[in-house]
Amino acid sequence: MTDLTARPRVNGDVSFWFAETAPGARRERLDRDLQAGVVFVGAGYTSLWGAYYLKQAKPELDIVILERETAGFGASSRNGGWLSYGLPGQASRYAKSHGKQSVVDFQREIFGTIDEVLRVAAVEGIDADLAKDGEIAIATNAAQRARLRAEFEGAAEWGFGADDLRWVEGRELDDFARLEGGTAGLWSPHCARVQPAKLARGLADAVERMGVRIYENTGVSEIRPREAVTVDGHTVRADYIVRGTEGFTPSLKGQKRDWLPKLSSMIVTEPLGDRVIDEIFWSSSVMVRDAAHFFCYIHKTAENRIALGGPGVPYLWGSRTDDHGKTAERSVRELHQALLRLFPMLGDARIDHTWTGVLGIPRDWSATVSVDHEQGVAVAGGYVGDGVSSTNLAGRTLRDLILREDTELTRMPWVNKRIRKWEPEPLRWVALNGMYSIYSLADRLEARSDSARTSFLATAANIVTGRH
Ligand SMILES: Cc1cc2nc3c(=O)[nH]c(=O)nc-3n(C[C@H](O)[C@H](O)[C@H](O)COP(=O)(O)OP(=O)(O)OC[C@H]3O[C@@H](n4cnc5c(N)ncnc54)[C@H](O)[C@@H]3O)c2cc1C
Repeated sequence: MTDLTARPRVNGDVSFWFAETAPGARRERLDRDLQAGVVFVGAGYTSLWGAYYLKQAKPELDIVILERETAGFGASSRNGGWLSYGLPGQASRYAKSHGKQSVVDFQREIFGTIDEVLRVAAVEGIDADLAKDGEIAIATNAAQRARLRAEFEGAAEWGFGADDLRWVEGRELDDFARLEGGTAGLWSPHCARVQPAKLARGLADAVERMGVRIYENTGVSEIRPREAVTVDGHTVRADYIVRGTEGFTPSLKGQKRDWLPKLSSMIVTEPLGDRVIDEIFWSSSVMVRDAAHFFCYIHKTAENRIALGGPGVPYLWGSRTDDHGKTAERSVRELHQALLRLFPMLGDARIDHTWTGVLGIPRDWSATVSVDHEQGVAVAGGYVGDGVSSTNLAGRTLRDLILREDTELTRMPWVNKRIRKWEPEPLRWVALNGMYSIYSLADRLEARSDSARTSFLATAANIVTGRH
């Protein structure tokens, strides 16, 4: 087994993806007051896509992005690289407010978004290791298998068919990848692999070429109607200020309890060469996960490394965020154990890099894109871990809302949704950490049992935290 303390390993440094893309010199810092048409706060995918589509629709619009660190510093350069079809929220909640058909339409928009990202990357010459071979969730015990089967059958009831999801059983799994104990899987073509930081950097360069101004090292302390105030005390006025700070939102004045910063951590192995094909049967670029409650999302990189995210410390007291991706040893240990549980043959594989990021969780576990025309303030985010595709859809939706166009996108159920705030501490800490501890316990109980029933503990945790 790998000795986690003895090998050279980078811990933090934003992320492996970020470090791999060799950051250039930082952009200019804002050192004066400014007036613009639209100001985005944060330079992650949300703002970059929003700026991209707005500038394309209205080239004369003066667009400014204010970024506290450097473009792509947040989750957009740290994520699992799943350009996935996951709905960024609870289907049942969206259906309750807008009806079942609106959720089906929303899901179809997300399916289409994956190809839209591939299209723009090709048009803009963004080389982000993109490969669209779909995704597969693999059951490694009876309860996971039953849950996946229920998901498969439930999708059919919503009108999704063989072009969207396929049940894969037994030896057929070897066409995708082999997880220890894997018996069946749910495959969908609607997913692509992306090297996250290459996409973020490429987008930042693309919007700059279009005339968008990006200021780095420029933190915003407060968003007010039609103005953002920087930590240095400069005021930036605009017709619209767009908040694109996702998991970092609690650092803004008055927004401490809007979205909860949920941590997610990852590890990446050394390049594994032909072992991924010979021993894991992973010859395509399909994205792989297990079907646990506290699941692992797994990515085979362009150079045959395995990057795995999942269990670890989920939340820090007082909505604190990580320090430049530095990862707690507990998280590293849990992720490494998960890697060896799913791929026991990788006991000798070196771990080259570990990192952590934050994503935004709204109280109703469902993302939103909202524009308040009276206040001149807009918000997009809270994607609950499914932001890589949905930020693109959010960007196009922001464009239509800000330009006051009535389109199919502005009628989606996540538009202008009201969300209540999270509870004060210690309730947030207890709820989130409690929920994930219970998930871990439920996963262990399910792994030890032959029962196809989902552990009642996981169901109870979902109800208590409002996740379902
Ligand atoms: C480890 C991890 C794995 C993930 N895996 C996946 C995945 O595989 N698939 C998927 O769909 N989603 C995944 N996600 C979620 C997804 O990455 C995010 O939802 C998405 O990137 C959010 O983009 P964003 O632009 O809204 O926020 P971010 O990318 O976090 O960008 C916010 C930006 O705002 C800046 N900022 C913060 N505060 C201020 C301030 N006060 N002033 C100025 N700037 C500020 C930050 O520096 C940052 O650059 C993952 C997230 C993490 C952390």
